[in-house]
Amino acid sequence: MNLFRRANARHGWTIVLMLLAAFAVSASAQGKTENVILITLDGVRTEEMFGGLDLAVIKAATKKGRVEDTALYKTYWAATPEERRRKVMPFFWNVLMKRHGSIAGDRSKGSTVQITNSHRFSYPGYSEILTGQAHDDEIKSNDKLRNPNPTVLEFLRRKLRVGPQKVAAFASWDVIDWIVESKPGTIASNTGYEKYENLDQQIADTNRLQFEARTPWDSVRSDAYTFRFAMSHLRMYKPRVLYLGLGETDDWAHDQRYDRVLQTLQLTDNYLKQLWEFLQSSPQYKNKTTILITTDHGRGNTPADWHDHGSDVEGAQYIWLAAIGPDSRLLGEWRDSPTIYQNQIAATMSRLLGFDYSEQNPNAGKPIEKLF
Ligand SMILES: [Zn+2]
Repeated sequence: MNLFRRANARHGWTIVLMLLAAFAVSASAQGKTENVILITLDGVRTEEMFGGLDLAVIKAATKKGRVEDTALYKTYWAATPEERRRKVMPFFWNVLMKRHGSIAGDRSKGSTVQITNSHRFSYPGYSEILTGQAHDDEIKSNDKLRNPNPTVLEFLRRKLRVGPQKVAAFASWDVIDWIVESKPGTIASNTGYEKYENLDQQIADTNRLQFEARTPWDSVRSDAYTFRFAMSHLRMYKPRVLYLGLGETDDWAHDQRYDRVLQTLQLTDNYLKQLWEFLQSSPQYKNKTTILITTDHGRGNTPADWHDHGSDVEGAQYIWLAAIGPDSRLLGEWRDSPTIYQNQIAATMSRLLGFDYSEQNPNAGKPIEKLF
């Protein structure tokens, strides 16, 4: 009898300890983040991200007269990389990186972010971000082919048990529609010159305008429309996961319009400000939302190939990643850190929301530990 009671008591303690352990595990896996916003800026080099205006690029491009007399130099030049990048992205550096988040990828500070696919162009990069894995033999062109591998967006919609509007993707480049989901219709997706409508009358006007005011490129609409549609969706449907894919930076670079690359980044900085101010004004998002910002690939690192990228272009394997949110206390630039990889982003997004991405893809990169 005595023995029985003691065994029973011991059993009771075991249950209490198991419950405590389970609680500890779930508490560490689920932080404060309830919403995740992923933003990509197509083909933005580490050179501009961390150093602003690259003098070597405009020196090579200035055929007549002095570099100092160019509009670009007058607008964006300053003595240090820190001053120069603040001229391009003042809100990002002065507010987000000072008070709310951090950025990896400045190799001069001992932090490297790399892609693991060997192609160094867009579809493979976006697919690596969204599936957590490079598939070099399957994903080897920018053609409109359905992604054969399920993405983190599809995984999160299933795990969160929410409707399709609650996991949404907006992108300027039309091919992204084919990358974000392996089963069409799993999430809300609006890309390229695609109609976007909801109950908001103002967005109906913006929607009409995207077809009238076109970019030079058939497959990429202006980021101005993509951003406004995404913001309208955010206000109207309050998604738990939003992916915003901005594209113009890449196309202006291919066209060797360095002025437009920097202007687009400056506009993007203002979009980040508008987005941040909206999130801070919303009880669903304030202090419960993590923003990850990154790029699909880098570009060449010399004045001769800064506009180019691809498997044989040195420098295009280097990218960067910013993380802004309530679960990471890191601020500003990462220093002297182990290299992180593009294939870790999907698992990091999942972990932020308390899910283990290896359930969907055991071969995906692991969550970026330093962010937790
Ligand atoms: Zn790209």
